Amino acid sequence: MEAEANSGSLEDSWAFIQRPGEGCRTVPLAGHVGFDSLPDQLVNKSVSQGFCFNILCVGETGLGKSTLMDTLFNTKFEGEPATHTQPGVQLRSNTYDLQESNVGLKLTIVSTVGFGDQINKEDSYKPIVEFIDAQFEAYLQEELKIRRVLHAYHDSRIHACLYFIAPTGHSLKSLDLVTMKKLDSKVNIIPIIAKSDAISKSELTKFKIKITSELVSNGVQIYQFPTDDESVAEINGTMNAHLPFAVIGSTEELKIGNKMMKARQYPWGTVQVENEAHCDFVKLREMLIRVNMEDLREQTHSRHYELYRRCKLEEMGFQDTDPDSKPFSLQETYEAKRNEFLGELQKKEEEMRQMFVQRVKEKEAELKEAEKELHEKFDRLKKLHQDEKKKLEDKKKSLDDEVNAFKQRKTAAELLQSQSSQAGGSQTLKRDKEKKNFF
Ligand code: GDP
Repeated sequence: MEAEANSGSLEDSWAFIQRPGEGCRTVPLAGHVGFDSLPDQLVNKSVSQGFCFNILCVGETGLGKSTLMDTLFNTKFEGEPATHTQPGVQLRSNTYDLQESNVGLKLTIVSTVGFGDQINKEDSYKPIVEFIDAQFEAYLQEELKIRRVLHAYHDSRIHACLYFIAPTGHSLKSLDLVTMKKLDSKVNIIPIIAKSDAISKSELTKFKIKITSELVSNGVQIYQFPTDDESVAEINGTMNAHLPFAVIGSTEELKIGNKMMKARQYPWGTVQVENEAHCDFVKLREMLIRVNMEDLREQTHSRHYELYRRCKLEEMGFQDTDPDSKPFSLQETYEAKRNEFLGELQKKEEEMRQMFVQRVKEKEAELKEAEKELHEKFDRLKKLHQDEKKKLEDKKKSLDDEVNAFKQRKTAAELLQSQSSQAGGSQTLKRDKEKKNFF
C-alpha cells in the first residue's frame, strides 16, 4: 500500500494537496486498521453527551396539547391547564431530563397559551415567530462568540412543531393557514388533527383530503418524512400519505382483554390510543420519535437555522461575493463595513459641527439684536429723562421768580405798614382801605 501511495511523482502529490479529492485513489488495505469503529465512536460520544429535542405545540386552548405530550412520552409533565381569558398569546416552555436505557434526552416542550382565544386573532402568530427567531438568534450569538462552547450549549431551537387542528370536519380556519404559512420557513411543521375521536371515519378521510388540498393551494410547506435514506424510505413514504395524523390523547390506562392500554372511555364504548384502527397516535410516535427525530434535528440546523443565519448576516451586510460575483472574505466584508461605518460617523460629525456653528451664529445675531434694542431703549429713556429734567428746571425757575416777586412785595408792604403806623392812628381806616386796594 505504502509503495503504491508513494509511487506518484512530486507533481502528483502537489496536485493532490491543491485539489483534495481530485487526485484521490482507492487503495486496498492489507489488514485490519480499525477506522471501521468510527461509527461506534460517534455513537458512544453522542450517547455520553446526551441529546436534546425541542417540540413546539401550536393550537387552541383545550385541543389536547398537554395530554398528547403526556401520552407521547408516557409520563405526566407538570403544568396548570391554561384558561381561555388570556389577553394575548404567550409561549410557555418547560425542559425535562428523560432517560431511556442509557440514552439521556433533554426534552423541551413549548406550548402556546391563549392561542385562538382573543376576538382579534390577527397577530396571534407573531409571538410564535418571535419565539422561534429568538432561539435561532441565541444560537447564532453563541456561534459568533470567540470562545464558544457549542457542545455544552443548551440548544433551544425548535425541532418540530406539532400543529393541532380542531376536529371540525370542515376546513382549516384562516388562523391555522396564516400561522402555518408564517412558520413554514422557520420550523418543521407536522399537522395533526386533535381529538380525532370527535370525528367519524368517513368524515375524517374527507377532512384529511380537504386539509391537504388547502395546505397545497395556500403554498404551506409542511415537513415531509425523508425518503432519501433507503432504510426508512418505504415507511416514511407511506406515512407521508397519512398526513395529517388524526390523534387521540389519554394518560388513562384501562384493562382491555388482559392488557392495560391507554384509552378514553365513553358511555358508548372505549377508544384505544395505541390502536391503529382507532387513530394515528402510533404513527405519530413512530415518525416523530422513533424514526425521524434525528432528521428533524438536522433539518432544523441545516435548513431553517441556515436560512435564518444567512438572512441575518446579509442584513448585517455580510456577503460571500462582491457585486462582480468574486469571492469576498469575511475580513474584507468587515473592513468594508468598518470603513462605511467610519465614513458615516465622520459625515455625522461634520453635520453636527455645521449645525453647531449655525446655531452659534444664530444665537450671536439674536444677542446682537437684543443689545441694539437695549441701546435704543436706553437712548429713549435718557432723552425722556433730559426733557423731564429741563421741564422741572423751568418750573423751578418760574417758581423762584414768583417767590422773589412775592418777597419784594412783602418787603414793600412791611415798609408801607411801618410808615403808616408812624403817621398816626386817625388815618387807620384810610390806610386799611389803601392796603386792601394794594392787595
Ligand atoms: P390543552 O389546553 O391544549 O393543553 O388541552 P388539554 O391537554 O389540557 O386537554 C383539554 C381537555 O381535552 C381535557 O379534558 C382532556 O382530557 C381532553 N382531551 C385531551 N385529548 C383528548 C382527545 O384526544 N379526545 C378527547 N375527546 N378529549 C381529549
